[in-house]
Amino acid sequence: MLERRGEVGSEEASSVSLVELRRVNKIRRDFVANVSHELKTPATSLRLLAESLVDILDEDPEQARYFAEQLKNETERLAQLITDLLDLARLESEEGVQNPAPVDVKSMLMVVLSRLRPAARRKNITFSWKRSGSAALYTVLGDETQLISMFSNLVENAVKYTPPGGRVELMGESDEGEVIVRISDTGIGIPPENLVRIFERFYRVDKARSKETGGTGLGLSIVRHVAENHGGRVTVGSTLGEGSTFTVYLPRGQPRTSAGTPSSPPG
Ligand code: ADP
Repeated sequence: MLERRGEVGSEEASSVSLVELRRVNKIRRDFVANVSHELKTPATSLRLLAESLVDILDEDPEQARYFAEQLKNETERLAQLITDLLDLARLESEEGVQNPAPVDVKSMLMVVLSRLRPAARRKNITFSWKRSGSAALYTVLGDETQLISMFSNLVENAVKYTPPGGRVELMGESDEGEVIVRISDTGIGIPPENLVRIFERFYRVDKARSKETGGTGLGLSIVRHVAENHGGRVTVGSTLGEGSTFTVYLPRGQPRTSAGTPSSPPG
C-alpha cells in the first residue's frame, strides 16, 4: 500500500511517493548485496585457510603457524565488520538521540585520545589538542557513547592513514550556537575525485590498503550518522600526499529525537 504525501487524492503526491519508495527499495537491495559480498570474502578466506591448515598440520608446523595467524586476522576482520554493521543498524534505527545528556567535549576527546595512544605510539605519531573559546561552551547535549564512537573512528582513521612519524591534531572552536572539532593529519590524503563518496557505506579509496589495515569501509558512514543524529554535520578537506582534515559541527541545542524536541542550548 502506497503512503500518500500531502493532499489525499493528489496524483502528483502519489507519484513522488512511488519514486521515493523505488529509491528506498533500491538502496535496501544494494545494501543487502553489498553486505553479502563483504561477508562472503572473509568467510571464503576462513574456509581456505582452515583447509590449508588441515592439509599441512603434520608436515610443516612453521607454515601451519602462519596459516593459523592468518586465520586469526581474518576472524578479527569478520568480527569488526559485524560490530560495525550492528552499530550502523542501531544508529539508523534509533533516528536521533534517545536520552540526550550534557557531554563535556574536551573530556570526551581526551578519553578518545588515550584509547588510541598505543596505536599512535606504535607508528611514532604524535597527538595534540588545541582549543579556542571559553571552556564553558564545550558542552553539547547528546549521546556520549555515539559521540565517542564518532571521534574514535575519525582519530583511528587519521592514525591508520598517516605514515610513521606524522602528526594528528585536534582543534576545538566553540560559541553559543555550536562546538566545532577539526581532526587534521599529515597522512596520505584523499584524491579530490573520491572525496564526495568516502562517507558511503563500504566505500574505500584503496580496497587493498584498507584490507591490510583491517578497514571495513563503514567507519565514516557511522561518523556521518552520529553527526546527523545530533543535528550536526561532518565535512572533509584533503590534499593528496599532505594530509586530511575532517570537521565536525555539533549544535549546542537539543539533538534530534524521535519525538522532534525543540532546540535550547545547554547551560
Ligand atoms: P575504512 O574502514 O576503510 O577506514 P572508512 O569508512 O573509515 O573505512 O573510510 C573510508 C575510506 O576513506 C578509507 O578506506 C580511506 O580510503 C579514506 N579515509 C578515511 N579517513 C582518511 C584519512 N584520515 N586519510 C586518508 N584517507 C582516509
